Amino acid sequence: MTLAVTADNGGLIDAPSDVAGNTLTNPLVKARSEPGSRKSAIRAMCAHCMGCTDDYQEPGWKGQVRACTATRCPLWNLRPYQ
Ligand code: SF4
Repeated sequence: MTLAVTADNGGLIDAPSDVAGNTLTNPLVKARSEPGSRKSAIRAMCAHCMGCTDDYQEPGWKGQVRACTATRCPLWNLRPYQ
């Protein structure tokens, strides 16, 4: 399934989406479409930790994960952006 979304240049592009129409650029939605992927699950957990939801991506969340100082978090050494 694809969903027309606005690209950075203002044009419309077809982005993959789940059956509910949520774009797979959202890490939480993408992780559910890849249930066996540890990489997607970790990325989704860090995104969720930084305030992302199924229909919202916190601006700058990737940089916040990169700057994460919670070294006692079990995912810290595995976080996607370092
Ligand atoms: S590594 Fe940091 S951003 Fe990722 S889940 Fe743990 S505390 Fe949250």
